[in-house]
This record gives sequence, C-alpha cells and structure tokens, in this order.
Amino acid sequence: MNDRVKALVLSINDYRENDLILQTISEDKSFLSLIAKGAKKLSGKQHFSCLCVYEFIIDYKDNKNIYTIHNSKLISSFYDDKDLKMLSLKNVLIELTLKSKELYETEMYRNIITCLSGLDNGNMYLLSSLYLSYLLKLYGINPNVDGCVVCGNSKVVSISKRLGGFLCADHLGEEEPMEVERLKKFRLINKADFDKLPLIKDVEFDLQDFDLLMEFFKENSDINIRSQKLYKELFD
Ligand SMILES: [Zn+2]
Repeated sequence: MNDRVKALVLSINDYRENDLILQTISEDKSFLSLIAKGAKKLSGKQHFSCLCVYEFIIDYKDNKNIYTIHNSKLISSFYDDKDLKMLSLKNVLIELTLKSKELYETEMYRNIITCLSGLDNGNMYLLSSLYLSYLLKLYGINPNVDGCVVCGNSKVVSISKRLGGFLCADHLGEEEPMEVERLKKFRLINKADFDKLPLIKDVEFDLQDFDLLMEFFKENSDINIRSQKLYKELFD
C-alpha cells in the first residue's frame, strides 16, 4: 500500500472518458503504465507532462504493470518548449527508450536521466550518441570497432551497417570511404559508457555522428524511429 515510485513520463494518452494513461520508466520497477483518474478534465487536480520525473504513490504489486496514481509530486522537468530543436531530439531519445521496454534494467533509467539532465547545445549529439551506443550494447548489436569485420585489419576506412563494423580498404565493397575523424569518433563512442563521460565530454559530436549510430541501430535492430525522421526533416 502507498508505495513511492520515482518515474520519468515517456508518453501520455487518453484513457476512458476522463482519465489519462502515462507510460513511464521507473527508477527500479521497470516500465509502468499509470492511470491518472480525472486528469483529462481541465479542472482535474493532477497535471502531468512528458519528460518530467514524478514521485508517484501507487499500490505496487510485483506481477502488475498498470496502476492507478493515488498521489504525485513533480521532482524534475526536462520539458522545455522554447527550444524546439532540443525538444525534438529529446523526443527521439524518448521513442528509443519506449521501444526498448523489453530490455529494461535500472541502468536504462539512470542513463536516460543523465542524458536528459546534461543536454545542452554544445553536447547534445555527444550525449544522445552515448545513449544510443548504450542501447546498441544492451541489444547486443554493438559494432565491431577493433578492426575490419572481414579480416581484422586495424587500418580501417569505412563502416558497414550490414556487416556490423569497420571495413578496411580491401573489403570496402560498395561502401564509401569515410573521414578518419568520423571513424575515430565512432570507435570512441562505442568504447565509452556513461561512467566515462567526464573523459570524453569535450569531444565534439555533430548530427552526422549521431545519424551514423542511428542508421546502424535501425539496420541491426529492425526498429524504426519515427521521431528521428521528423528531426532530420526539421533540423538537418
Ligand atoms: Zn578487411
């Protein structure tokens, strides 16, 4: 009875006549669907927003994943509609998280929070790339960045999404050669994790670096991220 659960709201949808249903990722209890009774009415006592962390009071049971919210308290907000570019990028991260529900671990919550709370205009692609590289590892589809995927040669010139990693000049096939700097950053981000963030925080990542990881993720996970398409249309 009356359990306190800290969770980040990922999406909000209508539910029955007057209620809303919140899809959340919690700090230590997986993804939870939470019903906010009466929240659809303007006069409703409870107001919720995506990209906000709340402490929810629910009656938690191990085998359930849908609960009614008894009470809630806003802990922190990462929602800011004044910066549309940032908000759209946050939506891409949220969609990635929602689609990774089956692989929940407490680290996923920790990493998405670290990412959202640290994002600024200087590091937005570094942090979002780091989150994506974390997901690649979680899915077990992280690229081979130790050498050419075909022969192991450490002198690499490109990346194959299909073969899953670096390529040397001999095995380039139909791929285009890439800049050394981009290959270095691809290796760096796939070797890094959130604990090593202080060591790489000054490396400049751009949209192309993020896109490269995103294309790799989509090809190898077979998951389509709709918000990424929108992001590219708006900001590329
Ligand atoms: Zn090779």
